[in-house]
Amino acid sequence: MTTTAASQARSSSANRAAHNKRTVEEAITRILASEHALPEIEYLPLDQAQDRVLAETLTSPLDQPHWNHSAMDGYALRQADLIRDPPGWPISQRIAAGHPPQEPLTPGTAARIFTGALLPEGADTVVIQEVCTQDGEHLRIAAEEVARIKPGANVRQRGEDITVGDAILGAGTRLGPQHLALAASVGLAQLPVYRRLRVAVLSSGDELVMPGMPLQPGQIYNSNHFMLNALLRALGCEVYNLGMIPDRFEPTLQALSQAAAAADLVIASGGVSVGEEDHVRPAVEQLGQLDIAQVAMRPGKPVAVGQIGSAAFLGSPGNPVSLFVTFVLFARPLILKLQGVGGDLYPRSQRAYADFSSNKADKRREYQRARLTQDAEGQSRVQVFPSRSSAAISSLTWANGLAVIPEQCQIQPGDPIDFLPFSELLI
Ligand code: AMP
Ligand code: MG
Repeated sequence: MTTTAASQARSSSANRAAHNKRTVEEAITRILASEHALPEIEYLPLDQAQDRVLAETLTSPLDQPHWNHSAMDGYALRQADLIRDPPGWPISQRIAAGHPPQEPLTPGTAARIFTGALLPEGADTVVIQEVCTQDGEHLRIAAEEVARIKPGANVRQRGEDITVGDAILGAGTRLGPQHLALAASVGLAQLPVYRRLRVAVLSSGDELVMPGMPLQPGQIYNSNHFMLNALLRALGCEVYNLGMIPDRFEPTLQALSQAAAAADLVIASGGVSVGEEDHVRPAVEQLGQLDIAQVAMRPGKPVAVGQIGSAAFLGSPGNPVSLFVTFVLFARPLILKLQGVGGDLYPRSQRAYADFSSNKADKRREYQRARLTQDAEGQSRVQVFPSRSSAAISSLTWANGLAVIPEQCQIQPGDPIDFLPFSELLI
């Protein structure tokens, strides 16, 4: 495209964008409704499957527990033998975990038993060792303790947690430590998971230079590269870095088309506004299409979402705070969806009370960097960072979440507000 064609595309895109401003909800709903192929399935051993997304529902090949076993160290008895006068039982065998009983429990006797050991046939109750005394090969329990023993106590029954054939983990589950442990507990050694999502990252801007290099006048360090890489890795993505792209149309077009050919998702930072030095938007429109051109929010209004070939595309304004906010609100749900994660993917907020005021009712929804604390009564209080500048990167390390200031709304101290904790947004 010639420079004139590029600027025509830019101004038509600016016109369309103006008519196309969406609310945050509309944008997220649209992102989640878009259709994309899921990544291929691969089978991974459990110890390589952490943070991957399960591609099929798993059913249990076993009952869990697989055997009736003792939940405590103690003595195994038959319910019918509990009443003895005086209370005493010969000890007929000793059973430790991992060593099956030699024989069924002889009627009228007790077996010394340890946590995790199989119950001998005939035994149905375990008496904890704390209420027992062992006198040579004889068990004694005080009469008042015998009265307190519940038949069937301290026995874990086969299948009481999981029955063979039960669906134990649904397709779309991101595998955390507890899921891996559950799969291991029923003997599954390999799991069907989606391959990692490939995300291509590019930073656009003539002013950018990497840390480690001296700054020439007017240059700034490329912090977005590191923010994006870390955000993506935390979500389990494979990152393909295309580096820094100059503010010119042709190199932008070339980088985006290379990125889209190699990745499932392309994320660009910078150059998505509608200024003369912003070339990402017209380049995406030439190579593919934009579904979302603007969102009524602050910061992050020029965020752009679309498609280049088979790759999804998300372009964020270059200010680090705008990138962070648009990433957690839009890129994260998009990534979860592309990874095959199931369930509700909307960012989850919590209710808290403002410790600040916001007197300017704004047409756009605002996401302020905020810190949640608890006051002396245990109530959640939210303070906001003094600067609302989207370039104030220190606000992100000061904050532990985002305070949501709704459209056309003033906030007084004590008002209930929505708070989006980073802990919910960064994984
Ligand atoms: P832009 O969205 O390209 O108009 O950039 C908006 C602001 O973000 C400008 O002040 C840029 O210098 C800054 N910026 C753009 N890219 C980056 C980056 N990779 N790291 C840090 N700041 C950036
Ligand atoms: Mg720029």
